Amino acid sequence: MSLLTLEGVTAFYGSSQALFDVNLEIGAGEVVALMGRNGMGKTTTVKTICRLLPAKGVIRFGDHDLLPLPSYRAARLGIGLVPEGRRCFGNLSVEKNLTAAARPGDWTAGTVTELFPRLGERRSQIAASLSGGEQQMLAIARALMTNPKLLILDEATEGLAPLVRQEIWKVIARLKQESGMAILIIDKSIRELSRIADRAVILQRGETVWNGPVNDLTSDLTERYLGV
Ligand code: ATP
Repeated sequence: MSLLTLEGVTAFYGSSQALFDVNLEIGAGEVVALMGRNGMGKTTTVKTICRLLPAKGVIRFGDHDLLPLPSYRAARLGIGLVPEGRRCFGNLSVEKNLTAAARPGDWTAGTVTELFPRLGERRSQIAASLSGGEQQMLAIARALMTNPKLLILDEATEGLAPLVRQEIWKVIARLKQESGMAILIIDKSIRELSRIADRAVILQRGETVWNGPVNDLTSDLTERYLGV
């Protein structure tokens, strides 16, 4: 059974329509890559799932209709977001950033710092003083602390140094293998996405134009829709 379903979803910024017909499904434990060129609606789709934007169509999470819910209720149902640009609480310590997000489950300050030992070392440091890579680790750790059923990573490795990127990809691979959590992931590296994702969904001008197993992504398709 599908964990998250979007059918015929439209969404708006004020009177400006950004999504026209988004269709997407994620099964429990599945990793789905959300792809598309710049400005095609990936972040808008993420905001729509997290109920940060007015939308129409079907948005279901398990047995719940997400459409009428405010964002905090969507989060409580088990959607953990790592937003574009990370957005940690800069003036709070690493530890406070983590505990502020905590909800009951297997992910605790102990288990997330096992996953990211550097966060354990910097526990009492304020988030603003962390490197970009460490802030991304904190953003992922904070989302895990909510013990989500679905983790959404918007630009998982954007702007990070190559070594840190590798570290983040390793962690995502580990989450896939060990946690059984569903993951929706956006990133510029098609190569890494193709390695880690089970399926891909491609957006073009706010519409789903392709959806299938990541292994079926031919060079024709990536050229046509992703410009590579
Ligand atoms: P990128 O890879 O550049 O982040 P994206 O695929 O995530 O691109 P979105 O950010 O979802 O694309 O943008 C989809 C469309 O919505 C674009 O036409 C964009 O200009 C528009 N848009 C995004 N944010 C806003 C906003 N706050 N107000 C109005 N229009 C917006």
